[in-house]
Amino acid sequence: MTSKFEKRIKSATKPALLTKYFSGPDFPDEMPATKIAKFQEEALQELITRAYNNSPFYHQKMAAAGVKPQDIGSINDLARVPFTTKDELRGKPWALLACDKKDISIIHISTGTTGGEEIYIMQTWNDYYLNELAPGYPNLFPVESDDICFNALPYEMSSAGLSFHKVFMEGCQATTIPVGKGGAYSTPEKSIKILRDLQPTVVITTPSWAIRLAEAASEASFDLTTLPLKKIWLTGEGCSPAFRERVEKIWGTKANFYYGSLEAGGIGAECDAHNGYHIVQGHVITEIVDPDTGTVLEPGQIGEIVVTCLLRFDTPLIRYRTQDLGFIDPDPCQCGITFPRLFLRGRVVDEIVINGTNFSPFYLEEFLMRMPEVGNWYQFVVKPGNNDKLKVRVELAPGVQPTAELVDKLSSKLEFAVGIPCEFEIVDKLPRPREKTVRVVHEEE
Ligand SMILES: [Zn+2]
Repeated sequence: MTSKFEKRIKSATKPALLTKYFSGPDFPDEMPATKIAKFQEEALQELITRAYNNSPFYHQKMAAAGVKPQDIGSINDLARVPFTTKDELRGKPWALLACDKKDISIIHISTGTTGGEEIYIMQTWNDYYLNELAPGYPNLFPVESDDICFNALPYEMSSAGLSFHKVFMEGCQATTIPVGKGGAYSTPEKSIKILRDLQPTVVITTPSWAIRLAEAASEASFDLTTLPLKKIWLTGEGCSPAFRERVEKIWGTKANFYYGSLEAGGIGAECDAHNGYHIVQGHVITEIVDPDTGTVLEPGQIGEIVVTCLLRFDTPLIRYRTQDLGFIDPDPCQCGITFPRLFLRGRVVDEIVINGTNFSPFYLEEFLMRMPEVGNWYQFVVKPGNNDKLKVRVELAPGVQPTAELVDKLSSKLEFAVGIPCEFEIVDKLPRPREKTVRVVHEEE
């Protein structure tokens, strides 16, 4: 007798264009740019047609803008389709449906770190498994069937843990360990025991959790550099190059970043050159727009990152404004992958204002993390609005003694590097986050 599961697999239908482009010998990250562009154009036409016909949300939007599916013949025409914003999705669980409610298989929920009503992102089984796993990126994301992947991302609510779980296990046919990050069972101590016992070759986690795990390893006298690691993938939070170097040194392996979001899924991944995120063009079209006017900008110009998901036909997400800032460099990368590279330039909301100048916390972190006396945990303490100096609260590196001279030395060194008045406060221990780490703390004097 055929099981329900077997029936489902048999009855599942991949859009013909996915078979056409992704069942051949070459993977998207080794296809000529013209072929991937052709795929994007066909996928876009199919996506727009299905959204217009099946999603009341997008039908209304496109009708109001006077756009019909036949108007979108090429990627350049995409600019005629209205944007989708976070506010349109907040508190409206079923907004994006272009399918029956009963066909939804999974619902991920925003973790709420940026405030506001929840955003619910839903997927059908067809989109989540069949379509999303159709294109692979073995050059950009080299995980193979003999790899053991230690997944220390959150598994609850957010999409991060489960998405990589699916990619490792079903997409790459590798061995997956669903460790989780800071949940009820996934304490740092237990995670280190698992690392020691199972000797993974790939680790994925956030930058701050990589450091938290390293502390637990040190307490357990376990040297992380003895692991047979090929790579550690970092995602979920940003960090400066100097912070990344600390992670690489402690773990004894290359650390590459992955950029994605709950709403849009995967957007880009770093190659070993660490020079921008190669946009995963089998999954998304990425545009850069002027945040005020919405005009599409030229390559190299900084603006808001806007993403269209190409493989989500049942719950489409078209021209989604991420609120992240960045620019695109279409020039070839030294690694040979032809996907253009996306460079992030932070989020306007996270910037610190000192003496009327805006600073990204990662820019300031870079100089802080280059100081060997400074430990791996710190906070920038600021008031809302303008500040006349940068207050930095730090732990010291192991074995460094807190003295008044050291406070002066650190303050003047950082002040010299970043050109703004700095004041250091040395503390024994800062709180260790279980959630997304907070680097900028708002305190009134
Ligand atoms: Zn590259």
